[in-house]
Formats: sequence, C-alpha cells, structure tokens
Amino acid sequence: MIDKKTFLQIINTLSDNIIANKEILNELDMAIGDADHGSNMARGFSEVKKKLESIKDLEFAIILKTIAMTLISTVGGASGPLYGTAFLKASGAVAGKETLEADDLICIYEAVITGIKQRGQSDKGHKTMLDAIIPAYEAFKSSIESGNDLNTAALKAVEAADEGVEYTKTIKAIKGRASFLGERSIGHADPGATSSYIIIKSIADVIK
Ligand code: ADP
Ligand code: MG
Ligand code: MG
Repeated sequence: MIDKKTFLQIINTLSDNIIANKEILNELDMAIGDADHGSNMARGFSEVKKKLESIKDLEFAIILKTIAMTLISTVGGASGPLYGTAFLKASGAVAGKETLEADDLICIYEAVITGIKQRGQSDKGHKTMLDAIIPAYEAFKSSIESGNDLNTAALKAVEAADEGVEYTKTIKAIKGRASFLGERSIGHADPGATSSYIIIKSIADVIK
C-alpha cells in the first residue's frame, strides 16, 4: 500500500533522479535529437519540487494534476505535453483515493499508456517512452496477478523498463525528432524511454 508520505517520497525521489541525470539524458538526445531532453525534464521537475511543499496536504489526484500542469507549462518540447498528459491521466485514475493499492497502480499505468498513445499517436516499437512504460506495465501487472507483492512487482517493472530501453537501441524511430534520422537512429537508446526508466526505477527504490 502506498500512503501519502510514500507517495510524496516517490515524487521527490523521481524528481531528484531526473535532475541528477540531466546530462546523461541530454547526451542521449544529442545522438538522435536536439540535446535538450535532460534540460527539459530537469527544468520541469525542479518546478515540481518547488510546488510540492505547498500542495503536499491535498489529495493524490490534485497533486498529480498540479504536477501535470507544471510539466506542461515548463518542460516544453515533445516530452512536456506527453509527460503532462501522463500525469493528468494518472490524476484521473486515482480520483478520490487516499491510499494506493497494486490495482490502483495498474489503473494508473493503463491511463498513462492510453494517454500517451493518444497524445503522441505512438505505440510500442516506435522508439519512444512507451517502449519502457508498456513493458513495465505488462511485467508489473503479471507479477501482481501471480500473487507477488507491490515491491516485487515494482522491481519486475524496472527490469522490463530496462530491457525496453535496451530494445530502443535496436529499432529505428518512427515518432519524434529521432524519426528524422530514419535508420541512423538505430544503435542509440531513446532519451524518453530512459527518463521513463528513471521514473519507474525511482518508484521501486522508494517502495522497496
Ligand atoms: P524534443 O524532441 O521536442 O526536443 P524532448 O527531447 O524533451 O523533446 O523529448 C524527446 C522524447 O520524447 C523522445 O526521446 C521520445 O521518447 C519522446 N517522444 C517524442 N515524440 C513522441 C511521441 N509521438 N510519442 C511518445 N513519445 C514521444
Ligand atoms: Mg530533444
Ligand atoms: Mg527540443
């Protein structure tokens, strides 16, 4: 079960880890994009951290919605609206909840994936953040369904997201800036899949 304190820790930790990986994410984006994914994300999550103190007593859905709005107005690029949509959909998935169970996390994953797919007109195999998030969701869900607890399932999600990032090295980009490179995008990890991996890993690190 994830209570408010753990939830806030997750948001803080994932923000810190995105900020700490700013240069790595920029370098990945340098290879197949415009070298700003780390800067974009770090800017957004620095703002999230600033806002967090003033919204920490509000319900999950409001916190997630505030994060979404903050990301939409500060991240920019392709990833800003996409991560903004993800957090907005996550907000909708937890309306009225005061604690989060494994089933709620499954609902969050489903809402996030549907939202990104719609907003990005993208899917698994397009070399985007979805190549980390969709396998993580599938691994998380099947782990819960086989009777594992939340932290075991969260670790399975991390493994799958990691494999998803590796998989993005083997495929050409169909969506986003990297698609302009066509075949030349092969051999490089997708920056957005990597930032999603960092987020999924941060969740597991907090709830372990
Ligand atoms: P920009 O490409 O505008 O500079 P960023 O560098 O911040 O934006 O983000 C790039 C990342 O956004 C990509 O690595 C990819 O994961 C993700 N992305 C781009 N377009 C899409 C899309 N249509 N659907 C899903 N994710 C996408
Ligand atoms: Mg970029
Ligand atoms: Mg850009």
